[in-house]
Amino acid sequence: MTQNRLMITNIQRMCFHDGPGIRTTVFTKGCSLHCPWCSNPENLSAVPEHYERDGIQGTYGQEYKTEELVKTLLKDRDFWGEDGGVTFSGGEALLQAGALEEVLKRLKELGVHTAIETALFVPEENLRGVLPYIDYGIVDVKVLNPAVCKEVLGGKLEFYRKNVRLFYDSGRLKLFRVPCCREYTFTEENKRLLKEFFREYPNVPVQLFAIHSLGEKKYRSLGRTMWKAGEMEQESLEKYCRELKECGIEAEVIRI
Ligand code: SF4
Repeated sequence: MTQNRLMITNIQRMCFHDGPGIRTTVFTKGCSLHCPWCSNPENLSAVPEHYERDGIQGTYGQEYKTEELVKTLLKDRDFWGEDGGVTFSGGEALLQAGALEEVLKRLKELGVHTAIETALFVPEENLRGVLPYIDYGIVDVKVLNPAVCKEVLGGKLEFYRKNVRLFYDSGRLKLFRVPCCREYTFTEENKRLLKEFFREYPNVPVQLFAIHSLGEKKYRSLGRTMWKAGEMEQESLEKYCRELKECGIEAEVIRI
């Protein structure tokens, strides 16, 4: 892919969970992980993919020139109000760091508030390039046992940890988000590791949410089957949330 083009699957308007205010969220295509619970299977591969859904055929993935994307996003400007703006999500937006940097830089020149939701399993230089143009970083926290992380998600935890530190030290990391499932992220061991991890980053609030199966139709449209997680009781999330608060960590349970 050329530097000045971004491969994306969707531009979603009127989003309320992807940073402050009302936002337009851009879903980029391609991810460095393969989380079993992923609800965006169309964003895993970096190349366009054919799909068939309810008898309708199409392609997941469209290349946008950076200036074309900025122009498209600016059409939503009136909806953003005082504190809204644009959020980049995925997949892993930082895998397309060159083009992303161009878009973010232009948005900042135009006075647009920018956010990113990232899993941070990318080379450090990808993050360094875009950092100056990000106002609000949302970082996913998943499996914190290095061996399990490598085996289940396919990512090296040491890279992730370095990137989290870099993001935090920049003052632009504003929120941690934990997708909770009993099998991997909400085990007793991981809950303990999460608590230790959050203590390393004072003043970054934490959102917990139960993973869901809303991506099922998209898996089917690609001829694949979605992994089925065991049910998460809301009460266990609330209980863990209280435990975090008792440790001085700002936390809340959200529904996505
Ligand atoms: S990091 Fe996000 S997009 Fe990538 S596999 Fe995991 S849940 Fe899916």
